[in-house]
Amino acid sequence: MPLSYFDETHAIVRESARRFVAREIKPYVEDWEAAGQFPRDLYRKAGEAGLLGIGYPESLGGSEGGVFQKLVWVEELMRAGSGGLAASLGSLDIGLPPVVRFGSDALRRRVVPEVLAGRKISALAITEPGGGSDVANLRTRAVRKTIDGRDVYVLNGAKTFITSGTRADYVTVAARTGGEGHRGVSLILVPRDAPGFSSGEPLRKMGWWASDTAELFFDECIVPAENLIGAENDGFRLIMSNFQSERLTLAVMANMTGELAFDCARSYAQDRTAFGAPLTAHQTIRHKLSDMATQLEASREFTYRCAARMEAGETIFKEISMAKNVATDMCDKVTFDAVQIFGGMGYMRESSVERLYRDARILSIGGGTREIMNEIIAKQLGL
Ligand SMILES: Cc1cc2nc3c(=O)[nH]c(=O)nc-3n(C[C@H](O)[C@H](O)[C@H](O)COP(=O)(O)OP(=O)(O)OC[C@H]3O[C@@H](n4cnc5c(N)ncnc54)[C@H](O)[C@@H]3O)c2cc1C
Repeated sequence: MPLSYFDETHAIVRESARRFVAREIKPYVEDWEAAGQFPRDLYRKAGEAGLLGIGYPESLGGSEGGVFQKLVWVEELMRAGSGGLAASLGSLDIGLPPVVRFGSDALRRRVVPEVLAGRKISALAITEPGGGSDVANLRTRAVRKTIDGRDVYVLNGAKTFITSGTRADYVTVAARTGGEGHRGVSLILVPRDAPGFSSGEPLRKMGWWASDTAELFFDECIVPAENLIGAENDGFRLIMSNFQSERLTLAVMANMTGELAFDCARSYAQDRTAFGAPLTAHQTIRHKLSDMATQLEASREFTYRCAARMEAGETIFKEISMAKNVATDMCDKVTFDAVQIFGGMGYMRESSVERLYRDARILSIGGGTREIMNEIIAKQLGL
């Protein structure tokens, strides 16, 4: 059993990601959070630095690399302290994998290299105004037709809370092509310029401010039938398999949010004095920090262990759901305690723990809620 999950290649990726984040993101991140968006050009810069291509085939413009290389990139991106930026810059990692794995060769070649180069933005649209957890009962409909001699799908319906929704050029959309339930769902790639496709204004959110989250509308929206991803009515299976890497990423984001909050709280507690002594001289504060460090360490180790099993090719529905719940529970608690240690200053916009606390809240909701993770775990336990 390896004592470290990381080798020299990971160290090189980490170093280059760290330099990129320090140069291109950190100096501007406060302004982007306030503006509710970051410049589109950042995708191109990250693409040119080879960071968006991590984990994707070289033949499609990627730089290969396994689960841990991607994990390292996510960890370093999170160091900028903006979950929203990481979510939108990383939305390709939920939108693109189905295209890479199950799209036709022509679709793959048209879409993937452009996204990995950062010239186009990819998003994933599953959640609907009527519900997100119950994926099998989604209502957006896609009907296959011949229009002017062209084989097309015509989509009608709406999606909501879509990350990168206001500016994604390619949206991987879950739509009903068949009967009721999970056997009637397909994935279809909708380009931004498809007739009948539009998006709403950025939604105002509790956290993830730098991420553009939006509603999407399909009104007699026409896309070529070749934009079908995988087989018709096989979309549910593709969606569930895609959730695995998304949930790992969300666990990593939660661990990093916890780590940043812990680091801030520790240095604040060492510097700040109360009753004539540093906060750390008070046992309750020391023990709070010890608990935070322990929970963080345990969560991170479990996440790494799951990542190692995924890298080895295992399918671990139960454990990855557990890892997401462990990490997000830890993150909720650690960010809460970090704000507490900061006292009134923790409530101020100028302190970084304030944002970490807000950003943490989505992590046990997005990519499948804590309750849905528990349903998956219960099912796998035979309950
Ligand atoms: C900032 C942000 C970004 C997002 N990005 C995307 C994106 O890019 N693409 C996308 O498709 N979606 C995205 N989402 C949507 C997210 O995935 C959904 O919000 C989430 O899946 C929950 O769906 P819902 O909000 O419709 O809640 P609902 O499904 O209505 O659930 C409401 C509550 O009921 C609970 N619940 C539901 N069913 C059960 C059950 N069987 N047992 C017990 N409890 C249950 C849920 O856990 C939750 O607590 C995003 C959301 C946010 C807030």
